[in-house]
Amino acid sequence: VLSGYYCIDTFTPINANAYLAARRSVDCALTAAREILDGRRIAYALIRPPGHHAERRSFGGFCYFNNNAIAAQYLCPHGKVAIIDVDYHHGNGGQDIFYRRKDVLTVSIHGHPRFAYPYFCGFEEERGEGEGEGFNLNIPLSESVDGDRYRKALTVGLRRIEEFKPQFLIVGLGLDPAKGDPTGTWSLTTKDFLQNGRMIGALGLPMVVIQEGGYRTQTLGRNALAFFRGIAEGARQWADSRHATTQRVHGVSLRETLVAEDARRVRQLVEITGFFGPEEVDVAEELVNEHLNRKDASGYHFIMADHYGRLAGYACFGPIPCTSSSYDLYWIAVHPDYQGRGLGRRLLIEAERRIKTAGGTRIYVDTSQRVQYASTRAFYENNGYRLETVLKDFYAQGDGKATYCKSLI
Ligand SMILES: [Zn+2]
Repeated sequence: VLSGYYCIDTFTPINANAYLAARRSVDCALTAAREILDGRRIAYALIRPPGHHAERRSFGGFCYFNNNAIAAQYLCPHGKVAIIDVDYHHGNGGQDIFYRRKDVLTVSIHGHPRFAYPYFCGFEEERGEGEGEGFNLNIPLSESVDGDRYRKALTVGLRRIEEFKPQFLIVGLGLDPAKGDPTGTWSLTTKDFLQNGRMIGALGLPMVVIQEGGYRTQTLGRNALAFFRGIAEGARQWADSRHATTQRVHGVSLRETLVAEDARRVRQLVEITGFFGPEEVDVAEELVNEHLNRKDASGYHFIMADHYGRLAGYACFGPIPCTSSSYDLYWIAVHPDYQGRGLGRRLLIEAERRIKTAGGTRIYVDTSQRVQYASTRAFYENNGYRLETVLKDFYAQGDGKATYCKSLI
């Protein structure tokens, strides 16, 4: 009975399993957030119970812990986070939790509290307080809303997010704006979810999608699928337009000390580039572990490029045994989100600088002769590397090894 004091309704019971289930939801949300830091572009926490109605001092609306706010808090030390709540019901929890903060922007599009749960908040004039003033945006809509009307609201919300320039986006994905949802009054179709996804994907932000409401079981799967298909299309559009402009990456920091989780992150990064086979991926991870275990004695040195908590790229090099001052450059890998933006060149220049400081006079780098490595070869040639030798059929029949060299003196 006492729990009623903290609960905003009568349909969010605390029974023997409530904590266990709610805790599992949080775990999934945090895992999804970690996947983003590990280099994924999008991670989806498909969870029950949902979380967006859970506030600092109260819970309700089937929500116990605020999964999306917890994920946002987890990402916060690495950069600004925007939460967009597209559930039919107001994201009162996120609003309450971040109301006085300016490092997390909360945006919610929902049925007007005049007629929709949670009734007591979600009004336009709730804009944040103190430092957080202007960092909460409520877009309450009327009882009947179709796809067109919804997209107008979404455009306003996304514009605010672009203006905020976050490093991470969290989407509170409610599927209850769907036509026929028993808890809602709107009429969004599967096509509309596709278009909403496109608009959100076109932001080009690393994204954690957290499942919130959605109760019309006949269309849930279809609508979710359409939404994610849209996100993928939007993200592709964004990537194409970005390649056309090739803006430089800002805010990258370089370091040479490795930490334990770099093994996992390097593996992830090398995999995501889609450029290396499974054995090469294993080797990439192994080299990190070698360095972690034996430090410089391993013969492998690293330069890691971090961008707001994510590994954007790295270089690995080391002295060639039995030579006086020759070095091998083993890897330069750049995450697809950062390719074509000058990061590979920056890693190369930094590796050369460190090799020179250590007394190195020559750098060697091997690449395959296959067509798909043409851009890699061009990259080295453009940076002053000269083709030294070609070993025919080295990797496989018809796939030779091209060795490039640059003299540092
Ligand atoms: Zn809802």
